[in-house]
Amino acid sequence: MSSFANERISKISPYVPGEQPKDKKYIKLNTNESPFPPSQSAIEKIKMESERLMLYPDPDASELVLKIADYYGVDKNCIILSNGSDEVLNFAFAAFCDESTPAIFPDITYGFYKVFADINGVPCKEIPLRDDFTISIEDYTDENGVLFIANPNAPTGILLPLEMIEKLLMQNQNRLCVIDEAYIDFGGESCVPLIEKYDNLLVTQTFSKSRSMAGARLGVGFASPKIISDLVKVKYSTNPYNINRMTIVAGIGSMEDDDYFKSNCRKIIEARAFTESSLAEMGFSFTSSYTNFVFCKTPIINGKELYSRLKDKGILVRHFDKARISDYIRVTVGSLEEMKIFINTVKTILEELQ
Ligand code: PMP
Repeated sequence: MSSFANERISKISPYVPGEQPKDKKYIKLNTNESPFPPSQSAIEKIKMESERLMLYPDPDASELVLKIADYYGVDKNCIILSNGSDEVLNFAFAAFCDESTPAIFPDITYGFYKVFADINGVPCKEIPLRDDFTISIEDYTDENGVLFIANPNAPTGILLPLEMIEKLLMQNQNRLCVIDEAYIDFGGESCVPLIEKYDNLLVTQTFSKSRSMAGARLGVGFASPKIISDLVKVKYSTNPYNINRMTIVAGIGSMEDDDYFKSNCRKIIEARAFTESSLAEMGFSFTSSYTNFVFCKTPIINGKELYSRLKDKGILVRHFDKARISDYIRVTVGSLEEMKIFINTVKTILEELQ
C-alpha cells in the first residue's frame, strides 16, 4: 500500500474472485461460468462490430435496452445496463445507502455485498440464515435500510419463493429491496414482473451465467423509472460508456437467439440433476440448488481438503474458509462430460482415503 492511500482504501479487504491458475489446464468448476460458448449470432455480430471500435458506444445502449424490454415485457425506462451485474449492484450501494441507511443482507451470501458497502463507506448489517441456510423473512421485519438478497442465494443455491419476496417488499414499502437474480434462469421464477407493482424493488440480472457472456461483462437492472434514473445518475457520474460496443451487439445477438439460451439452461439443469444424484450415491449432502452450481459436503473429508485434492487432479472448485460453510465445496455445473469426470475424480479421492 502506498502512503497516499486514504483511510477507506487502507482498511478495505477487496473481493477475491475465483482463482484462474495458469500452471496447467484445469476443468474449471469454480467461477460459475457457462461451459457453452456464446450464441453464434453474438459471435458474428462482435466480429462485425470490431471494425467500429474507433467510435464510442451508445451510452444508453438503446437498441439492446429495447430488446430486453421487449423480452421481459417492461418499459424501456425500467431498465439500466451495466458492466456486469456487479456494477449495477455497486451503483445501488452508491445511490441508495448512506450512514443512516445501512445495507442489510444474510450472513451467508454473495461476498461482494460487504465489499461494496465498505468501498461506499456504508454500514452493513448481516442477518443470520437459519441452520438449514434458508432465509427467515420475519428476521427482516424491523430492519431499516436497503436489503440485498441474492435469489437464488450464493453460494447455497437456495431459492426464496416469489411469495416470500413479495412479503419482504410488503413488510415496509419505504424500504428498498435489491433482488440479485444472477442465477434465476436455472429453475427459479423471476420477480421482474413485480417492478410494476412495487416501487421499492430493484432486480438485477446478468448475461454472465445463463447467456455464456461472463467475459463480455453485461448486467441489467430492472426497477421503476424513478429508481432507474437514480442509478443512471451514478452511471453518468462515473462511466457513461460502461458497456462497450462489442458487448452491446453480443447482448443483442444473445437476446435474438432464445432457443440456444433455453436449450443451454436445460442442459445445465440436467447436468445438475446428474451431479446431485451421483453425489448422493456417494453419501454427500447438498442444499437444494436452483443455480448452475451445487453446494455439497461429505462426512468423509473436509471442504478444504477435498478442494485441494480435486485441484491436484486438475479440477477447480470453490471452497470458502468461512464459519458455517467451511465443510462445503461449491461446484459449478459444467457440461455433462465435465460433471462425469468430476464425479469419477471424487470417487477416486474417496477410494484413496479408505
Ligand atoms: N451476484 C451474484 C450472486 C454472483 O454470484 C455474481 C457472480 N460472481 C454476480 C452477482 C456478479 O456477476 P457479473 O458481474 O458477472 O454479472
